[in-house]
Amino acid sequence: MKKLVILGAGESGIGTAILGKQKGYNVFVSDRGTIAEKYKKVLLNNNISFEEGNHTETKIFDADLVMKSPGIPDTVSLVIALKEKGVSVISEIEFASKYTNGVIVGITGSNGKTTTTMLLNHVLEKENFNVSMGGNIGDSFAQQVAEKKSDIHVLELSSFQLDGIENFAPHIAIITNITPDHLDRYNYKFDNYINSKFRIIENQTENDFLIYDFDDEVISNWLKNNKVKATLLPFSIKSELKQGVYLKNKQLIINYKKEEKIMGISTLALKGKHNTKNAMATAMAASLLKVRKETIRESLEDFEGAEHRLESVLKINGVQYINDSKATNVNATFYALDCMQSPTVWIVGGVDKGNDYLDLMPLVREKVKAIICLGVDNQKIVQTFYNVVDLVVETAGAEEAVKVAYKIAEKGDAVLLSPACASFDLFENYEDRGNKFKQAVKEL
Ligand code: ADP
Repeated sequence: MKKLVILGAGESGIGTAILGKQKGYNVFVSDRGTIAEKYKKVLLNNNISFEEGNHTETKIFDADLVMKSPGIPDTVSLVIALKEKGVSVISEIEFASKYTNGVIVGITGSNGKTTTTMLLNHVLEKENFNVSMGGNIGDSFAQQVAEKKSDIHVLELSSFQLDGIENFAPHIAIITNITPDHLDRYNYKFDNYINSKFRIIENQTENDFLIYDFDDEVISNWLKNNKVKATLLPFSIKSELKQGVYLKNKQLIINYKKEEKIMGISTLALKGKHNTKNAMATAMAASLLKVRKETIRESLEDFEGAEHRLESVLKINGVQYINDSKATNVNATFYALDCMQSPTVWIVGGVDKGNDYLDLMPLVREKVKAIICLGVDNQKIVQTFYNVVDLVVETAGAEEAVKVAYKIAEKGDAVLLSPACASFDLFENYEDRGNKFKQAVKEL
């Protein structure tokens, strides 16, 4: 019996354990931290042996194959030692893809992965396709493969998940955009991060497709300098393309083999230029999968949106409160500010991952009437904006921030939580930050 060792007992670790056991491996799960109760139960119920609080090296080095969870960096000494010994160390995505014949759509990028993944899943479900969605959101890919026989897998993929692939090849790859993020895991080199995202296409053949943002210079430059086997299907909100997706007279047009008008963009459910791009990528993928045009249009019109992403919370005294807690980098906040149509009280701050706020300056000048900082250390934000915006206030909690916003905002204004930062200084995660914001708004 082949031995499969799984490092890390989170979502992808547990999914791999279940699938590995089902496929006849002798499975051992090792987590240096503590394993969450819900996952421990799954391991016990499935008779899978595991340890926590320690990595027992003798057991780990005995492996024929190791699955490393995406949260564990490649630089950990145990991982280096395993590779030196010649043991294959792969990711859950690599492992799971061997056991499905379903069509894989892989979605990566710095921002817009979750939105595009959910949007595409919604379209495919509406067409009554046998589809499952997961990866970096919801259930792991491995668990899907173990428990369902899907015709199509729609997968959100982070760069960490792509780092551990060998043969993984989605039939349709989508790269939404590439802007600096997670550089701490990439030796602070943007190029390393870019290359990691592009691993999504490294095993594709001439029969596969790459859908990407034509207007994104980082992506276009990479494509100029590297060979790609897949058919390129770019989308653009600026240029009419010979092949791909573009806008003409505010209509979304797909041009692949023939030109087809899909719908007007004014009725798209998700607002903002960034969401128009997400809709374009989705429409292109759905069209390749032979979804009818009517279904694509209806689904893009009635999609309800993902929580914490430009989510409308409430309108109070004519002031609209918007929760964009998932905006954990400058680029995401750029698009949030870009689509604001009323004077905005902007709640921003948290753990800064090396932000350059200057990109936001024109939008802030045009739209922001007050800034409410929500973080432990707000110095950089205060220094950047204090002579651009009339009012900059520091707060240290969601409730306080919302109360201050309530005092400042007037009828017709918007209050936008779009932090451009991670949340770990004051909150458990971005969901916690968004939930506390919404709670505070509801209690006004
Ligand atoms: P991801 O899963 O890649 O983090 P999400 O769909 O969760 O992406 O969105 C993260 C943040 O980025 C949200 O604030 C959202 O409004 C914004 N966003 C969504 N799509 C895009 C896009 N195509 N370009 C830039 N920002 C985007």
